[in-house]
Amino acid sequence: MISLMPTIFFGHGNPMNALSKNSYTEGWASIGKSIPRPKAVLSVSAHWYVPYCAATSNLNPRTIHDFGGFPRELYQIEYPAPGSLELALRVKDLLAPVSITLDERWGLDHGTWSVLKYVFPKADIPIVQLSINQMQQPSFHYELGEKLASLREEGVLIIGSGNIVHNLSTYSWGEGDVLPFDWAVRFEEHVRESLIRGDDAPLVNYQSFGRDAIMSAPTPEHYLPLLYVLGLRRKKEKVSFPVQGIDGGSISMLAVRIG
Ligand code: ZN
Repeated sequence: MISLMPTIFFGHGNPMNALSKNSYTEGWASIGKSIPRPKAVLSVSAHWYVPYCAATSNLNPRTIHDFGGFPRELYQIEYPAPGSLELALRVKDLLAPVSITLDERWGLDHGTWSVLKYVFPKADIPIVQLSINQMQQPSFHYELGEKLASLREEGVLIIGSGNIVHNLSTYSWGEGDVLPFDWAVRFEEHVRESLIRGDDAPLVNYQSFGRDAIMSAPTPEHYLPLLYVLGLRRKKEKVSFPVQGIDGGSISMLAVRIG
């Protein structure tokens, strides 16, 4: 029997989660224990947001420390998971006629490794990253998700890594527990309710949420990985939220699991 691999959106949040033990990182570790071991992982991270479509094809992808101003310890973390040319080629094939560049220079950015180091701590599952093409509309990203759906039957875990609410200019850095902004709560709730209803259109057209959307997703890159996961969902397939919380007032840590 072919089992269908779940697909998961992770809210990765502050890179410091990679050094912390908290409710988010514990939730990520539990997810790793609750899913079948995948043959490979395809990761769509907010931090590879470029004007073209590409998939990593390096067999030994480097750990990219793509942030500034954090403690030295964070730059010393390595996540030495292998790559997979086979998966990169399969992705290229499935997404045709959209042109996918095979990229040997990028590796695993912190959207991928800061979460997967908890989900798969042994770093022994091959990973390919797929870029987010910044020239395209939200519906394009949703459609790419749909085109990748058969990978779920092939033992591939597809993850999106971003944040449903991501506003750094209002984020309380290092101030501990703060109350979430009302617009952040409302936007996250809109998203959660639409997911439960199985109503994809308002999620693809998220900008129509007005001011709450402008505040919650002032730039699109952290929201868009959700649309890949959404496009992979089968009709009436179960949705759950294994990690929840709004960090620092304006970063939603909500994880969305389909299947
Ligand atoms: Zn990020």
